[in-house]
Amino acid sequence: VCGLEARKVAVLGLGRSGLSAARSLRAGGAIPVCWDDNESARDVAASEGFAVRDLVAQGALDDVARLILSPGIPHLYPVPHPIVRLALTLGVQVDNDIGLFFQSFAQTDWDRFDTMPKVVAVTGSNGKSTTSALIHHVLDEAGRPAQLAGNIGRGVLDLEPPEDGAVVVLELSSYQTDLARALTPDIAVFTNLSPDHLDRHGGMGGYFAAKRRLFAEGGPDRAIIGTDEDEGLFLAGQLSEGPTDDRVIRIGSGRAEGPGWSVNARKGFLSEWRKGKQVGSVDLRQIPGLPGAHNHQNACAAYAVCRALGLSPRNIEAGLKTYPGLPHRSQVLGTRGGVTFVNDSKATNVDSARKALQAFPAVRWICGGLQKEGGLAGLEPALGTVVKAYVIGREAANFALQLPGIDVAICGDMATAVNLASADAVAGETVLLAPAAASFDQYDNFEARGADFERHVKNVLQSSAN
Ligand code: ADP
Repeated sequence: VCGLEARKVAVLGLGRSGLSAARSLRAGGAIPVCWDDNESARDVAASEGFAVRDLVAQGALDDVARLILSPGIPHLYPVPHPIVRLALTLGVQVDNDIGLFFQSFAQTDWDRFDTMPKVVAVTGSNGKSTTSALIHHVLDEAGRPAQLAGNIGRGVLDLEPPEDGAVVVLELSSYQTDLARALTPDIAVFTNLSPDHLDRHGGMGGYFAAKRRLFAEGGPDRAIIGTDEDEGLFLAGQLSEGPTDDRVIRIGSGRAEGPGWSVNARKGFLSEWRKGKQVGSVDLRQIPGLPGAHNHQNACAAYAVCRALGLSPRNIEAGLKTYPGLPHRSQVLGTRGGVTFVNDSKATNVDSARKALQAFPAVRWICGGLQKEGGLAGLEPALGTVVKAYVIGREAANFALQLPGIDVAICGDMATAVNLASADAVAGETVLLAPAAASFDQYDNFEARGADFERHVKNVLQSSAN
């Protein structure tokens, strides 16, 4: 494991990725020393036989070769965790499981280059999980061995060693890309950029910089970049040798077509362009797992990655058509009397909620929760599809104040919101959960919030069936 055999390696944070790092380090002959501020997490590690030691104690980091951090632990903003600060003061390398993964994967055997496994890494503010799952699905349907890991699927260090010709698809958050000491995917994807998690990155510049690390000098052979925002446009320009450079595939809604390689989606049609000629197309309008323009952007990204991996447009089209969708992301739960119920609990920020609202013509909108920095600023352009808002969460009244001109019902809890919205809805409308806020005021996470929505929707669907 990355030259760490017989060396002590500190692991801070003992959730899924931390425990998996500790296990891999031990399996590779390193000596993990673990800590988590939460006692029950420490107990789990101790029950697996790991040494658990307070890493701020005098001398605890003295003979440690590296500190491996979980993504939830601040390494810089708003302030570094005290153990991280101590490690930085002592000059101990700080890294994460993603860095370890790329370091253990780094030896390129040029004689076998074409058949070696390839790593695709996906980052961006929104659409990472959908794009990653879509790439995995299309490859799988085309018979190409593929594994999904990172923020979705397995922890990177729990992957089976990939076989020849296989593809590892990694979803990476900005926390992960900011910290990893090695980031060397063969293909890297930047979906889009909108404000999120700014407290952890010291503002928008730091957030963009964290994502850009995936494309640093000597980085991926192929970069797939969403160019609908200026940041993506800038990044694509920086990575290109010239207008027709094949290293960059631009994706978007058409703004940056140019003479190079691009894939765009407009009015439900995906088109692939090379040197000014259209070389592929897919009608996305009838694909149930990919509703809305935002999902069409995700389809462009997945299409571009699969083209870069050598799949034919027809093979990719076949895979896109059978994509089943992911839970809590524009997930259609059912219909009753012409009313469709959609769970988009993952729409935790303004940009994703805006995309979800724009995907449907007339929306009974269930929203609210713990507000992110900036509140609902930027949502106005999407409010035209909202028939009425049903606000949940502890700050419901304050949330409602930011929706001037919108018919609002303050519901507080999910049961009230679902019952009221479904009683009000008429044929052709969509009851949509797209909170534009985090869930932690009422739920453990967005999955629990989505599951609660689903439970109440199932009741409504069943009661009308009886
Ligand atoms: P991530 O993994 O980046 O959080 P997901 O695929 O889980 O992305 O989608 C998160 C939310 O963002 C979804 O609920 C959806 O409303 C929205 N979304 C999905 N794709 C896009 C996109 N390309 N642009 C903007 N919003 C999107």
